[in-house]
Amino acid sequence: MATNKIPTKIYLSEDELPKYWYNLRADMKEKHEPFLNPVTLKPCTAADLEPVFCKDLVEQELNQTDRYIEIPEGIREFYKAYRPSSLTRAYFLEKKLGTPAEIYYKFEGNNTSGSHKLNSAVAQVYYAKKEGLTSLTTETGAGQWGTALAMACAFYGLDLNVYMVKVSSQQKPYRKAVMQTYGANVIPSPSDTTEAGRKILAEHPDTGGSLGCAISEAIEVALHKDKCRYVLGSVLDHVLLHQSIIGLESKIAMDKYGIKPDIIIGCAGGGSNLGGLIAPFMADKINGKSDAKFIAVEPASCPSLTRGKFAYDFGDTGKTTPLMRMYTLGCEFMPSPSHAGGLRYHGMSPVLSKLYHDGYMEARAVEQTSIFKAATEFARCEGILPAPESAHAIRVAMDEAIKCRETGEKKVILFGLTGTGYFDMTSYMSYLDGKMTDYVPTDADLQKGFDALPDIPQNKNI
Ligand SMILES: *Cc1c(COP(=O)(O)O)cnc(C)c1O
Repeated sequence: MATNKIPTKIYLSEDELPKYWYNLRADMKEKHEPFLNPVTLKPCTAADLEPVFCKDLVEQELNQTDRYIEIPEGIREFYKAYRPSSLTRAYFLEKKLGTPAEIYYKFEGNNTSGSHKLNSAVAQVYYAKKEGLTSLTTETGAGQWGTALAMACAFYGLDLNVYMVKVSSQQKPYRKAVMQTYGANVIPSPSDTTEAGRKILAEHPDTGGSLGCAISEAIEVALHKDKCRYVLGSVLDHVLLHQSIIGLESKIAMDKYGIKPDIIIGCAGGGSNLGGLIAPFMADKINGKSDAKFIAVEPASCPSLTRGKFAYDFGDTGKTTPLMRMYTLGCEFMPSPSHAGGLRYHGMSPVLSKLYHDGYMEARAVEQTSIFKAATEFARCEGILPAPESAHAIRVAMDEAIKCRETGEKKVILFGLTGTGYFDMTSYMSYLDGKMTDYVPTDADLQKGFDALPDIPQNKNI
């Protein structure tokens, strides 16, 4: 391929922006197993989900057949304020690594939330407003989702309560201030404002919290408050649907230059950015039009794909969500206070779990000192200070490019650079001061989480 002709940034015009989200489930040969109502153990219906989520989102959640779903005009208008996100050829990184590989990254950090989360926040708040709701609740780990939602709520005029994982709220006070600037009410979780929070505090008074536990608190409030619903920033199918904008834009841009990625890499917390990035490329693979390799990268401290069980589990510590079959460490698993807050989740998107289980995708777990090494190298040559979460993808993209240097292969690598790390400087400092350590749970640690998986017939043979 005549690589010299490819510009450093591939731009899309407004006219080229996608008008539809792409629903990967429509192309999957086998769908993931249905969510189960935890009481009846029967597949969830719309009626089961509607007390918690908005109607349009429930419809999208359960829609496994429509390949394309139109992005409403009111959402596309907001998208135009910060999209398309840039697709960059990492010429400097390639040169530094001395690799024959071509490396591209899709950068989602170019909005105030500092991440891809805004793509789904805008959509979710738009539908909530359309339904006549007046407030929303949610959880946030690292703070990106809470910020994204605060931005969208400010735009569409809804109130917002954000339960923020306690360790993150301590590590990132400025994140909290940004959310408050957009008018959100931020509560460190576990808190004494909910029954779920009080229960966890009684059992683990010193816990730094977890996403699962913050989710329980947010859901509890949504269930008890009028015209209030809960919104979730990852894991669920409708969130992956909204995030398909990332992959669609990447594909349109790459197609303009005839670039076909051989390896597509993304970090995976709940799986939304990766699910969105890979969606149209995975369709080609499923339909036999491509042989690309897909790699999910997770922290070694919270290894749901690489060491978890493919089992039915709750999405939250308080055991209030439907049961989802996914790779999970068990909803009672309390991840160590690793610095990549956005990846500290016990489970994984059911769509990605299914693809991984069926052999369409690989997964790797990486340790945090090695991701900060990659982050620092990347920042120094490409100019962007990455979020620690994103650095997981950078690490593996670099590893793959280094492999190409050894074998002489000219692979085309695409990775998702999900966000910026300005609010993660405490972690960068701990790395730069040589104080950062790696934590990898033992099998015995993980077993405790597995022992607490729901004891239901569907989980008998896992
Ligand atoms: C939330 C977040 C992630 C992980 O979430 P996914 O749902 O797995 O995409 C990754 N990177 C950043 C910057 C985030 O904010």
